[in-house]
Amino acid sequence: MVKKTSSNDETKLVSGGRNPKQNYGIVNPPVYHASTVISPTLKSWRNRDPMKDIVYGRVGTPTQRALEEAVALVEEGDRAITTASGLGAIAVALTSFTKSGDHILMADSAYFPARAFCNNVLAKYGVETSFYDPQIGAGIADIIQDNTTIVYTENPGSLTFEMQDIPAIANAAHERGAIVLHDNTWGTPLFYKSFQMGIDISIHAATKYIVGHSDAMLGVLVTKEKHFETLFKGFRSSGQHAAPDDCYLALRGLRTMSVRLNQHQKNAIIVANWLESRSEVKQVLYPALESHPGHELWKRDFLGACGLFSIILDKHYDDTQLGSMLDHMDLFAMGASWGGYESLILPGAPPRTATTWDPQGTLLRLHIGLENSDDLITDLDKSFARLKRK
Ligand SMILES: *Cc1c(COP(=O)(O)O)cnc(C)c1O
Repeated sequence: MVKKTSSNDETKLVSGGRNPKQNYGIVNPPVYHASTVISPTLKSWRNRDPMKDIVYGRVGTPTQRALEEAVALVEEGDRAITTASGLGAIAVALTSFTKSGDHILMADSAYFPARAFCNNVLAKYGVETSFYDPQIGAGIADIIQDNTTIVYTENPGSLTFEMQDIPAIANAAHERGAIVLHDNTWGTPLFYKSFQMGIDISIHAATKYIVGHSDAMLGVLVTKEKHFETLFKGFRSSGQHAAPDDCYLALRGLRTMSVRLNQHQKNAIIVANWLESRSEVKQVLYPALESHPGHELWKRDFLGACGLFSIILDKHYDDTQLGSMLDHMDLFAMGASWGGYESLILPGAPPRTATTWDPQGTLLRLHIGLENSDDLITDLDKSFARLKRK
C-alpha cells in the first residue's frame, strides 16, 4: 500500500519505499534473497494472503515491495507489481485481461516485441489484435468492437514518436467497457502521470530510466486498486519474478531519477535543436520541440521529456554509407535499449499495418546521455562529415 509522504515528486523519489527505523537505521532497504518463507503456525500457513503477505520468494519479498511502493507513489497509482523485464510486464498485462475470443486494439507505433507477442503468441490462443493509427484520438470509438477488452497505447511511440491523445482514447474505451494499457517507459512515472490521463495499467521497462545505469533488466506494472487483483492473478500464474538484486539497483536508480532525467532532457533539447539546423537532417522527431506535430499534446499532458528521440536523414542511405557514419563514433554507441547514462544511436525501420511509414529518409534513433552536450554535438558533426564524404 502506498504511503503518502509529500506531494512533491523529488521527495517521493527519495523517500518512497524506505523505512530506516525498521532496519537498524540503515538508509537503504535490505536485499532479501528468498524462496521459502516459513509460517510459524498452521493457522498462519492456512491464512496467508499472497496479495498482502510475504508468502513465497517468487511472489515477492520486502525488497520487491519497496520498489513497487516507491514507483506507485511517484506515478500516483495504488499498487505496483515487478516483473523480470519490461516485456515480461507487457505479457502479464496483456494476458491478465484477455481470454479466447477477445480483441485487442494496439497502437501501430507500439514497441515491436509487444506487437510480436500479440501476433505470435496471443493469436494462437484465439485473441485477435488489430492495429490503429496512434493519432486517432477520440476516433477510436469507431473501431472498438463489442469484444475489444484492451486498448493498448504507447505515448509517444518509442521509435517514431507520434503523440497520442490518451484522455480522448481512454474516454472512448471506457464507454465501451475496454481497459487502457499504456507503455509509459518514455514518460517514466515522473514525467507522465498515467492515472490522471485515464490509463488503467501503466507498464514500465524499468530497465531504462528507473534502473538508469544499463546494468539490470526489470519491469514494473502500476495500477489502481480496481484492477489490482486481476493483474496480480495474471502475474502470479505467469511465473514472473523480479530478482531482488535488480530491484535494489532499480531503487538506487530511482533516487536520482529526477536529477538524471532533467539533465537528459536539457542535453536532448540542445542536441535536437542543433540537429534541426543541419542539412543532413530532414526532421527531428522529439515532442519537446515546437516543430513536432504532437508538441501541443506533449505540453498539455507531460511534465517533461526524456533523452530519446529520432531523426529522419535527408534521404535513404545504404549500409555502406551508414556504416561510415556510425562505425567510428567516439561517444554514441550502437546497441539496443536506452535510458542509461550513456548516448546511443541506431537505425530503425518501424513495421506498420494500420498506417504507412514512408519518411523518404533513413530513421536514426538517438538516446542522449549525460555526457557534455558540446562533446555529443562534436561527435555527431564528425559523423555527418564521414557520411557526406561517402
Ligand atoms: C525496452 C522497452 C521495453 C521492454 O523492456 P525490456 O526490459 O527490455 O524487456 C518495452 N517498451 C519500451 C518502449 C521499451 O523501450
